[in-house]
Amino acid sequence: MKMQVPTMEQAQAELQKYYGYPDFREGQKKIVESLLEGRDTLGIMPTGGGKSICYQVPALLLPGLTLVISPLISLMKDQVDALTTAGIPAAFINSTLSGKEVNERIRAAHRGELKLLYVAPERLELDWFRLEMAELSISCVAVDEAHCVSQWGHDFRTSYLSVSPFVEELPNRPILAAFTATATPEVMEDMVRLLRLRKPGVFMTGLGRDNLAMSVLRGENKREFVMDYAATHSHQPGIIYAATRKDVDDLHQRLQGAGIAVGRYHAGMNDTERADSQEGFLYDDIRVMVATNAFGMGIDKSNVRYVIHYNMPKNMEAYVQEAGRAGRDGETSECILLFSAQDIMTQKFLIEQNPQDPERKANEYRKLQSMIDYCYTTRCLRNAHLDYFGEEHGDKPCGICSSCTDERELVDMTVDAQKIFSCIHRMRERYGVALVASVLKGSRNQKVVQYGFDKLPTHGMMSGKSEKEISEIINVLISEGYLALSEGQYPVVRLQLPAAEVLRGQREVLQRVARPSRTGASSSRDRGRGHDLSPSAVNETVFEQLRLIRRELAGREHVPSYIIFNDATLREMSVVCPQTESAMLRVKGVGEVKYRKYGKEFLDFFQNEM
Ligand code: ADP
Ligand code: MG
Ligand code: ZN
Repeated sequence: MKMQVPTMEQAQAELQKYYGYPDFREGQKKIVESLLEGRDTLGIMPTGGGKSICYQVPALLLPGLTLVISPLISLMKDQVDALTTAGIPAAFINSTLSGKEVNERIRAAHRGELKLLYVAPERLELDWFRLEMAELSISCVAVDEAHCVSQWGHDFRTSYLSVSPFVEELPNRPILAAFTATATPEVMEDMVRLLRLRKPGVFMTGLGRDNLAMSVLRGENKREFVMDYAATHSHQPGIIYAATRKDVDDLHQRLQGAGIAVGRYHAGMNDTERADSQEGFLYDDIRVMVATNAFGMGIDKSNVRYVIHYNMPKNMEAYVQEAGRAGRDGETSECILLFSAQDIMTQKFLIEQNPQDPERKANEYRKLQSMIDYCYTTRCLRNAHLDYFGEEHGDKPCGICSSCTDERELVDMTVDAQKIFSCIHRMRERYGVALVASVLKGSRNQKVVQYGFDKLPTHGMMSGKSEKEISEIINVLISEGYLALSEGQYPVVRLQLPAAEVLRGQREVLQRVARPSRTGASSSRDRGRGHDLSPSAVNETVFEQLRLIRRELAGREHVPSYIIFNDATLREMSVVCPQTESAMLRVKGVGEVKYRKYGKEFLDFFQNEM
């Protein structure tokens, strides 16, 4: 007998019932549909885009169990807490459990009492576990953070290679669903090949998240900026990423000295310290987390209002992932990258330090160059992101990034650009940025004299500017595509076609240097139902009181606050002030089970205090 395929109406009903959301987001619908039809599916969505729901809702409708492969223990616990809080039967199995607890959970799965079971990929390598799983009726295997299977990705994890043999070995092959935020072609190819997805439906959506205001700041005093920003945003949760442990410790100490509720996280701390720190952040005891990139994977905290990068990350994939930890709840949030030329040296040093084959190394350098270009571009930053990941944007600017909000006039740089191009041409396109800048500045350093560049007509042509300023202009011209850098540790600057047009006077070069966006535009997503949830409309006192109620509930239930209800949900409540059960159930994020568990507390407040 053929199983009846569950319908999208049923899926929609489950979404409302358990999550309190009236609609799937763009992209979620197609993925859910594909899975319900029984197709292998690859879902690519930005961090915060809502990947979990894409397999959780089908899990409720498909017979048997959905096994979720998840890379981190902290992530599992969080997700399972959120599910059980919403009334969905779920559990995880990992190394924090005793043998007895593991057995109990497996028995519960056998009895059909679980819809979702979360495990780490390493577990698939254990014979006894595979045997147990073969006895269960598993209808779907969902692979979260699926880019970990690829060596080209940024978090390669060998044990992800066990997923495919595990799946093939099961008596009935389940539907395979893979999810990630990384969409470069190499990684996509690897996911399909290494997970052995069968004729998968591939769905890619909205990598540009319209609630994130992106900025790149060059030439700031980084330390001062961070101190100032953290102090003026001290009531908001934020993450500050720094490249080294030393910087993390230093910033942490300074912020602490300034009386800010700050925590730190890096690989040099022991497990307990790190776990405490992470937990403090999840529970809002710590407002600002200063961390290396060791922090974050699996942090599903939804109300992070800003992510500052103290240093440029190694590539765009890493940047998008880290910056994307801001604003998962759809509220306006800021992503600020503090860039200095020193960051380039640091990243090159890290590439050189890491022994690897030449092909991979070249790949790392290529990715680094795209990252550098992003730091120098004067184009809309969101469009720059979308371009990198090959997404359409129709050239419509986002309106809130630091390029879009830069109000200074465009300056005509054509003459400077011509001097630079001409100098590069005369140096036969065989040298790097620094030497070109020295020649234009008119330096007589050893290299310049040794090669006879002090005899060039372009020598000293830009003596009014510092070498650093000249290098900056050259870097901008690279990011705009007038110039290109060769690959490798010591890249050489070469002229591109548009540069020739500029030299012939057929093309102008207009530029401005990026400035931060201090204005946050309001986001349109998750607003629904036409309530104005702008800060002025939200009654801050009510909102604060709702937060207190939530905090109390969170303490009682031993879960982070946002698992009860997220900020967006409380904000909507503070605007609508629901006085009845049905009004409360219409607030986004209030599902039936959560209403029964926590709704009363909030309803009481509105009925009695308002
Ligand atoms: P990802 O795994 O893609 O980074 P999550 O699955 O953690 O993202 O979801 C991010 C946030 O978006 C969560 O707070 C989730 O509840 C919310 N969300 C997901 N789907 C919807 C929806 N259809 N409507 C409203 N909010 C949603
Ligand atoms: Mg996720
Ligand atoms: Zn923009």
